Amino acid sequence: MINIVLFGPPGSGKGTQAQNLIEKFNLKQISTGDLFRFNIKNNTELGQLAKSFIDKGELVPDQVTIDMLTDELKKPCEAQGFIFDGFPRTATQTEALENIVKEVLNSDINVCLSLIVEDTVLVERLLKRGETSGRTDDSNKEIISNRIKEYYAKTAEVAELYKKQGKYVEVNGVGAIEEISAKLFAEIEKIK
Ligand code: AMP
Repeated sequence: MINIVLFGPPGSGKGTQAQNLIEKFNLKQISTGDLFRFNIKNNTELGQLAKSFIDKGELVPDQVTIDMLTDELKKPCEAQGFIFDGFPRTATQTEALENIVKEVLNSDINVCLSLIVEDTVLVERLLKRGETSGRTDDSNKEIISNRIKEYYAKTAEVAELYKKQGKYVEVNGVGAIEEISAKLFAEIEKIK
């Protein structure tokens, strides 16, 4: 089993790269952002709660997010591992993920692949995506800046935790999609 944390600020290309990794290595992607958006679309209680944070560009509280991820991980699946996209985003979530992966899958996180993209490029990409994605949090510059601020305030510490475990690998996230995928593939081959 290979379990990968795909890491990086909003707009760094995690979702796009996850698609290529899924196909190449037969993995299942779990995107907490997608799960929240699914709940918002279906107007569930969880969706209503999450929306109040997402619309401001803030993080949804840890326990809510951790419970949702745990439920998703417990669903039966044939994949050979998982890609965690957009999770963990805090130190608490990082610790929780380690425990959940142990308890539910009897496995470990193998690597944290971090996509590096400078802020000005992130803002450009998110605004462009907002033209077609219909995501309210992509269409407003203030919300976008808040999401990037949250990333540096709360999420950057996740990188430090994986660095300490020797599991943190940076990959340049600017360039052609296929080129970036090739670099990610090479990093995964190293740990297989
Ligand atoms: P994303 O699609 O990963 O950019 O996530 C969109 C929004 O969903 C974020 O700005 C947060 O408000 C919320 N969200 C997604 N994943 C998490 C997480 N792991 N912890 C807290 N909030 C999250």
